Amino acid sequence: MSIEGISSDSSEAILGDYDLIIIGAGPAGMAAGIYAKRAGLEAVVLEKGVPGGQVLTSPNIENYPGFPEVAGMKLMEQMADHAKRYIEIKEGEEVVRVRSSEKFEVFTNAGKYTTKAIILTTGSTHRKLDVPGEEPLVGRGVSYCATCDGFFFKGKEVIVVGGGNTALTDALYLHSIGAKVSMVHRRDSFRADMHLQETVRGHQIPVAWDTVVEEVKGEETVSSVILRNLKTGATSARAVSGVFIAVGEIPSSQLAAELGLEIDPGGFVAVDKSFRTNVPFVYAAGDVAGGIRQIVAAVHGGAAAALSCFEDLMKPYYSRLP
Ligand code: NAP
Repeated sequence: MSIEGISSDSSEAILGDYDLIIIGAGPAGMAAGIYAKRAGLEAVVLEKGVPGGQVLTSPNIENYPGFPEVAGMKLMEQMADHAKRYIEIKEGEEVVRVRSSEKFEVFTNAGKYTTKAIILTTGSTHRKLDVPGEEPLVGRGVSYCATCDGFFFKGKEVIVVGGGNTALTDALYLHSIGAKVSMVHRRDSFRADMHLQETVRGHQIPVAWDTVVEEVKGEETVSSVILRNLKTGATSARAVSGVFIAVGEIPSSQLAAELGLEIDPGGFVAVDKSFRTNVPFVYAAGDVAGGIRQIVAAVHGGAAAALSCFEDLMKPYYSRLP
């Protein structure tokens, strides 16, 4: 049988046999790796891209203790360097399928691994607006990553859509690099941290409240958006070159579903306080497991999941005490 060209024949050569495979090298996966290896587990991290996850796209982080102000990319580079002192991170290895048999079988674009336990730290992906013009203009004015694409919009009119921490951080970043930025938010107040709200106000970044983007227009690149005020119903066109969309995240829980993990109503993997799932020897942490979705929380979850895994596999004396 083959999944997207990947052989999943259980008799094929095994690339590695581990105590623990960690899927995803965001902050949760990297912390899990450090703690797993230090505990003595044979472990590896499989990462479909490069280490860092969504944090790579965050222009500025001010709430990770020890780093008063740091770019997401820089923080993740340092975290990856630290993690690699302990654990191998196999970059560019996407897990396409997971199967539970005597051991877990993990199939990637490189081949098959077996493992006694899995920590899922697969993170989340950007939610889309799902409006006409959005999809065809991605990379041509529509962006989900201000840090990656903001540079091209210096001196140009852009909007940021959303009212959470990401949207306000992105708006401030775009403002700081000289884009003419305004915000579009569907309600009359932001949900972002008060500190960010005050900073946005301080920089006098205009906000279209109670407003949604109804359509993104443009031939080769974005030229305008059609906005609709939800209170009055009035629509208007606004000339812009960039549309930065920051309307939340969708958990990447496809592998979790394959493993039969319980998923909560929000689409997140359900975990207990030790980051165990409902399936023995499977754990989840970071954005895929929901919660407050902060780097500091992801790091906590990854470390706790690794220690739970260690307890379950090694049954140390203290885990057997009444
Ligand atoms: P979020 O907190 O879920 O906010 C999403 C925003 O998009 C909300 O304002 C929401 O509006 C709006 N929205 C959702 N669907 C929409 C739609 N279809 N059309 C228009 N607007 C829509 O997402 P986030 O800002 O990406 O943050 C994700 C998580 O990461 C959060 O837990 C956040 O605290 C964390 N984070 C933290 C930091 C930091 O601490 N510095 C930075 C970035 C992210 P409503 O408000 O009306 O629901």
